[in-house]
Amino acid sequence: MNGEAGRAGPLPAHRVLIVGGGFGGLYAARRLGKDDRVSVTLVDRRNFHLFTPLLYQVATGAVSPGDIAQPLRSILRRQRNTTVLLGEAVGVDVDKREVRLADGGPLAYDSLIVASGARFSYFGHEGWAKDAPGLKSLDDALEIRRRILIAFEAAEREHDAQRRAEWLTFVIVGGGPTGVELAGSLAEIARDTLRRDFRSIDTRSARILLVEALPRILPTYPADRSASAGRQLERIGATVRTGTRVVDIDDHSVGIERPDGTQERIPARTVLWAAGILASSFVATVATATGAPTDRNGRIIVGPDLTVPGHPEILAVGDAAVQPWKRDKPVPGVAQGGIQGGKYAAGTILARLSGETLPPFHYQNRGDVAVIGRLAGVTDIPWLGPFGRQSGFPAWVLWLTIHILYLIGFANRIVVVVRWGWSFFTRGRGSRLITGAPLLPPIEEPEPPA
Ligand SMILES: Cc1cc2nc3c(=O)[nH]c(=O)nc-3n(C[C@H](O)[C@H](O)[C@H](O)COP(=O)(O)OP(=O)(O)OC[C@H]3O[C@@H](n4cnc5c(N)ncnc54)[C@H](O)[C@@H]3O)c2cc1C
Repeated sequence: MNGEAGRAGPLPAHRVLIVGGGFGGLYAARRLGKDDRVSVTLVDRRNFHLFTPLLYQVATGAVSPGDIAQPLRSILRRQRNTTVLLGEAVGVDVDKREVRLADGGPLAYDSLIVASGARFSYFGHEGWAKDAPGLKSLDDALEIRRRILIAFEAAEREHDAQRRAEWLTFVIVGGGPTGVELAGSLAEIARDTLRRDFRSIDTRSARILLVEALPRILPTYPADRSASAGRQLERIGATVRTGTRVVDIDDHSVGIERPDGTQERIPARTVLWAAGILASSFVATVATATGAPTDRNGRIIVGPDLTVPGHPEILAVGDAAVQPWKRDKPVPGVAQGGIQGGKYAAGTILARLSGETLPPFHYQNRGDVAVIGRLAGVTDIPWLGPFGRQSGFPAWVLWLTIHILYLIGFANRIVVVVRWGWSFFTRGRGSRLITGAPLLPPIEEPEPPA
């Protein structure tokens, strides 16, 4: 499609407003940027696009924040028809076709793409968030990095053996890809990276517990991949507890319910949350304003063309939507869901301007890869046939290749790949800086005076 097709005289450009510059919003904007029949406004509450698949690498000190984030303004600077705004969308008037920002607006639209993603859900226990941060944003990653590093520092100085063990116990809640990758990274840090850095503690004695309520980790993978991931985690020193529900979290411990219904309290100073997602608050705002149905995660149930029922001018994509895929299975909450949904939504808007209709959205499953510590992982990539089902080192190589491919478009991708590869091959983690407050560990019984 080009900018001249279907144009009858100098019509004003069709105004497309995109809320969210994650995978869905960014790929929609890029697709629209090639067509001057539209003027695009992309609004995001942060000024960068975040490559979330490598977020846990920031949380565990392998790469720096700037390595996996790129300013939206710079990514889209060559698109003359696109304006980037820093702001938080908080309201929508579907009759006037306007979106209100927390500190201004309104922004008028002819078509609206809702791509504001999701956040973690604590299943009604929002109070757990302060003791068990989730990994969703760069700020979260830096906070988790701080907590992990502080825990080792505190253990080094804590005199009391029991409290030292508390500092050296890390519980990760949720055995999906994020939990598995976090657990693997933590085990690797404890076993390898920090081994020679401390004097009073043996970092290899750290307990890394991955707790999952379902009967197996990586529940969206085939059963044999889940089993393989479990074995690989155990091999590098992590403990996997499936069929185990977290019932309480405080700043010194985690309460769990075992598969047999009995309860146990695990003393632990570091708990990380990687379970359950809930659509972002703007998605709820749109659902209320349009009366659109949502699933139990608050995602809008869109039609086959990704439009909100009764509002063909509003499209929802990525983690904000239940995008249709198989009969009883929506598109999974992965980057590809956002990318393909965003491109399709943009294509739909352009097709309409040409008086055309696109066939319904068709998701192409590119597969799943999860890395487990250093040089190991599991893959489930159906289109590669038997080759797509890898474990261990071949899985890690596939994971690396895919991430290099997806980093394309980032100006500093070579630097990222070199730095990241370096940290893997040298067993080092260059970004082990403790930043943010508090900087010092809150130790109860420091080492006795020399
Ligand atoms: C730690 C982690 C690891 C992951 N690893 C992988 C992986 O390895 N592979 C994979 O395929 N997927 C992975 N995912 C999932 C993947 O990141 C998501 O499925 C994908 O980002 C969804 O894209 P999206 O565009 O819907 O939302 P997002 O990418 O989350 O983007 C949403 C955007 O909307 C903005 N926003 C939200 N609310 C507002 C508002 N009110 N106003 C303005 N802006 C707003 C946000 O700032 C954000 O930029 C991971 C996710 C996480 C959290």
